[in-house]
Amino acid sequence: MAGSLFDGAKQQLAKALKHTKISEDSIERLRSPKSIIQVSIPVRMDNGSLKTFTGYRVRYDDSRGPTKGGIRFHPNVTLDEVTSLSFWMTFKCAVMGLPYGGGKGGVCVNPKELSMFELERLSRGYIAAIADFIGPDVDVPAPDVYTNPLIMGWMMDEYSLIKRKHTPAVITGKPIPLGGSQGRDVATALGGFYCIQTVLEKDGLAANGATVAVQGFGNAGSVAAELLHNAGYTVVAVSDSKGGIYNPKGLDIPSVKRHKESTRKLEAIYCDGSVCDIGEHEDITNEQLLELGVDVLIPAALENQIVKENAGAVKAKYIFELANGPVSPEADEILKTNGVKVFPDILLNAGGVTVSYYEWVQNRIGMYWSADEVKDKLRGRMVEETENVLRIAHDKQVSFRTAAYILSLGRIAEAMEAKGSKQDYLRK
Ligand code: GLU
Repeated sequence: MAGSLFDGAKQQLAKALKHTKISEDSIERLRSPKSIIQVSIPVRMDNGSLKTFTGYRVRYDDSRGPTKGGIRFHPNVTLDEVTSLSFWMTFKCAVMGLPYGGGKGGVCVNPKELSMFELERLSRGYIAAIADFIGPDVDVPAPDVYTNPLIMGWMMDEYSLIKRKHTPAVITGKPIPLGGSQGRDVATALGGFYCIQTVLEKDGLAANGATVAVQGFGNAGSVAAELLHNAGYTVVAVSDSKGGIYNPKGLDIPSVKRHKESTRKLEAIYCDGSVCDIGEHEDITNEQLLELGVDVLIPAALENQIVKENAGAVKAKYIFELANGPVSPEADEILKTNGVKVFPDILLNAGGVTVSYYEWVQNRIGMYWSADEVKDKLRGRMVEETENVLRIAHDKQVSFRTAAYILSLGRIAEAMEAKGSKQDYLRK
């Protein structure tokens, strides 16, 4: 896979390896995924025809526990992408100290072109195809790009029907009445918010009108924009796949969010009763958003948004990667030279999988926590691991990304080596 996303992901690990003393055995085991499944999913379409979709599930490493990671429905899903995402999940779970390995799934489909009936048949068909390879102690899927609680509910139901027993812990991100956790819907953004606050408070920049641009207005981006707005940051630009809006004085994010939810269009509309005014804003492209002169840039959409061609034009002081893999390794180097502080995906967006873990625990003990309990647990863990990453970056004089890999690699290697390493076998 020359020049692939997965090659780029492994380069991030290679940088951390230089700063750790983990065994050759562990490095060898982390070179390639544990297993790759490719399935064909035949779906009866509403017009009576049969269409076959390609799906994947990759389990990268399970040294620390069952593999964990979302399922993406997107027309650009490839095996290379799913493998990279499963690799990142492995390190993400370890950064947070969760008892999980990393996995990921994907189906190559544009869900916006399917009816609800077709979407349900596809979701159930995908789970039926991989049912023998997942399970609460084996591999636990969750939502990712363009999948949501409704889809997770169908998937849990399908798995339970196949196994002939109610099995909520097979998948996370479910609707609350089906065993979902309080707070899972906003967990990715909230975890990112705690991390951003921890970093910026230390640098004396938190809130107080610090300017923010958010690329991506889905589950992660829109909630993050709202949390930051409510905390006193000035969110000057947001965008979705069709383009963005910009107002240097700040956008009223709750009204933008309401408008997007009701019309699916991104516009700054301010409503007072039944009267709505188009608020002051300029239309911008996604590319322009990434180059705005803001304090904080939050890519919350897809991979490879900041690459070697546009990294030099980034003017933000901080990048917080709420998406997975938004900055390419070449871009990372350019940003470093230009003094932009980049906080990595495997820490920044780990709030999602952390509350997924809480959901899985609640399903297994059969007892459910309040929204405040979940939030407190998430805050504690995010702040602690963010501080660990900051400390390692400072002590070893490495980037925050490399620091996060050093932290997670240490935990993964510890688990691998506890089962024996070369030294143990050669001991006389
Ligand atoms: N898809 C999310 C991620 O990339 C969540 C995974 C999970 O909850 O298992 O982190």
